[in-house]
Amino acid sequence: MSRVLIIGAGGVGSVVAHKCAAVPEIFNEILLASRTKAKADQIAAAIGSSKVQTAQVDADNVEETIALINRFKPDLLINVALPYQDLPLMDACLATKTSYMDTANYEPKDEAKFEYKWQWAYHDRFKEAGIMALLGCGFDPGVTSIYTAYAAKHHFDEIHHLDIVDCNAGDHGKAFATNFNPEINIREITQKGKYWENGKWIEIDAMSIHKPIAYPNIGERESYLLYHEELESLVKNYPTLKHARFWMTFGQKYITVLNVLQEVGMTSIKPVMYEGREIIPLQFLKVVLPEPSSLGEGYKGETSIGCQIRGIKNGKEATYYIWNNCDHEAAFKDVGAQAVSYTTGVPAMLGAKMILEGKWKSAGVFNVEEFDPDPFMAEIGKYGLPWKEEINQPLPVEK
Ligand code: NDP
Repeated sequence: MSRVLIIGAGGVGSVVAHKCAAVPEIFNEILLASRTKAKADQIAAAIGSSKVQTAQVDADNVEETIALINRFKPDLLINVALPYQDLPLMDACLATKTSYMDTANYEPKDEAKFEYKWQWAYHDRFKEAGIMALLGCGFDPGVTSIYTAYAAKHHFDEIHHLDIVDCNAGDHGKAFATNFNPEINIREITQKGKYWENGKWIEIDAMSIHKPIAYPNIGERESYLLYHEELESLVKNYPTLKHARFWMTFGQKYITVLNVLQEVGMTSIKPVMYEGREIIPLQFLKVVLPEPSSLGEGYKGETSIGCQIRGIKNGKEATYYIWNNCDHEAAFKDVGAQAVSYTTGVPAMLGAKMILEGKWKSAGVFNVEEFDPDPFMAEIGKYGLPWKEEINQPLPVEK
């Protein structure tokens, strides 16, 4: 029986709250707190359980979060607000000796650069306080890192090549929308791409490397090489990796609109003066784009996210492909969300369950692949994200 504080009432926060409320034997009391309380109230009303309370909090303000924690006394804080809030929330957790979890690594507001160094720097302080921080427990990062740990544990002696492949073959019917927070999403895909090769990072122009990759039950989709945060922790935790890349699909229309927005300066994070006050073009753009949590109804098609791995088993070359396909309509039916919020929120709930049951337990700051993947893999299907695998078959990314 535990108390959990969820920060952020957006697309992902809604799924986490729904899924936690559906496991009352673990999540006995839930407090959903966000900048706009009305959004938390709406989610709580949709769940319809007396165990879900709501509150207003500005998570950038450490003192406000400390006061909320002291009032509610959670066993764990789940941060599904934005990456900017990671450090202030970790500070509030340290001050109150509360364990912490998130799904995206810290980014400074004025620089689109996501790196684990800021959060890893909290390790000794979390260890001394006897509390745990679990970083990146969504799908990617999150399940992709756990898939890698599972593959390394059961299917290889050494892993050498890792390709994470992320396809959204769904159609939400909107002219242009991002599937998770537009500001964070556009910052991620307009920055330079990067991949790991023979012990160093190779940087490329944004979206400059792409090719069709075949996805199960979907077929070929143009896939773009991006930098994605789990690559940083995976190459550190699996030093045998010679090669690690991340691929994501985008439709031609999405890219055309994005290019136009970029060319006219709407994706910039440099402040500009508008009617006598400073505004950030990307933050203004976010306001006019659909909210990720509003995309669920009528969204059709599937996502397919997985890991394609090549390495050595018993002295021989071996390959392994593990993936999940998630149907937007099925996600909507389950918790009223589209599949991108769903595939992030379900693992966040299960990661929290692993911590609260003591199956993942240690003091300090950790990435998900540092814990035993088996108990998580044994349960993730039951909560809505079953996985499939192919052993020693040609890898679609290598075709
Ligand atoms: P949304 O924009 O839908 O939701 C973000 C929520 O955080 C909003 O409710 C927002 O409040 C709230 N928020 C923002 N700033 C603050 C603040 N200072 N204090 C309190 N609340 C705040 O985004 P998503 O739900 O799509 O994404 C949530 C997180 O999940 C992001 O960090 C994203 O990067 C991550 N993510 C991770 C993935 C993974 O696989 N690992 C995949 C997809 C997303 P308001 O309503 O007032 O704006």
